[in-house]
Amino acid sequence: MSGARRFSLGVEDRAAVVTGGSSGIGLATARVLLAAGARVAICGRDRARLDAAVGELAAIAGADRVLGTRCDVLDEKAVGAFAREVESRFGPAGILVNNAGQGRVSTFADTTDEAWREELELKFFSVIRPTRAFLPQLERAGGGAIVCVNSLLARQPEPHMVATSAARAGILNLVRSLATEFAPQGVRVNMVLIGLVESGQWRRRYDAQAASGESWDAWTRRLARDKHIPLGRLGRPEEAAHAIAFLASPLASYTTGSFIDVSGGHSRHV
Ligand code: NDP
Repeated sequence: MSGARRFSLGVEDRAAVVTGGSSGIGLATARVLLAAGARVAICGRDRARLDAAVGELAAIAGADRVLGTRCDVLDEKAVGAFAREVESRFGPAGILVNNAGQGRVSTFADTTDEAWREELELKFFSVIRPTRAFLPQLERAGGGAIVCVNSLLARQPEPHMVATSAARAGILNLVRSLATEFAPQGVRVNMVLIGLVESGQWRRRYDAQAASGESWDAWTRRLARDKHIPLGRLGRPEEAAHAIAFLASPLASYTTGSFIDVSGGHSRHV
């Protein structure tokens, strides 16, 4: 048989936005979408981290297919400016990945009112602000898709991450509402439920205890064992990225208000 057939995700030349695309799951998602032929805009707060990520992505796909903008997703004005910049550079965004954020380790006893407010604001407004800013573009692009990077904590709360768990449950609920409201406009809304995936935030937690002398591999293996993760390891960022890219693509055209579990079997729900 002549001419190898190539599998396509169907996102060629689509403009895709990945918030928090300068590290971990977001950066891996940007890589996957670029490899699938999309043009990708990422944002983050730290200039050096952002520049390094843009440099890496541009080397894969060419500088003309990558945009990196310094933007805090909680800053409404900055998000609006980011949305305008994306459209003027790439045309209307057809994909929005709401990924920016991080978890908070704290029990009810040691979570102050201020910490609760910060956590609820981060989890809700990191979805609300970019969604509001990019929705008109997603509608105009046709077949628009939003994917929220959510956590398994939404369904399986952990007492040592009480505020993050409660906020994540709210996002699970919100995604369903948005999916119903945006369906007539042709915009799908889904999420991934992440268990434990190697990323910047796990690296920082490893560094914070590095005095123990345990290697990264041994530490993550022990973590997976202690958490009884059936697949016996943490996930890799690209494993989350593949699920995100699928939900963002026309391959998932009849799926909305739903999720893919990326937890190595850690979920105890049927
Ligand atoms: P990383 O720390 O590796 O990446 C987080 C990214 O988000 C960075 O690019 C960071 O850049 C950016 N970011 C954080 N806050 C903001 C903000 N306010 N505005 C703009 N950008 C921001 O972590 P992960 O890849 O692990 O995290 C990605 C998402 O996955 C997060 O929402 C996290 O909560 C979620 N998640 C991850 C899990 C895991 O095990 N890895 C488990 C469950 C959920 P900068 O700091 O420069 O702004």
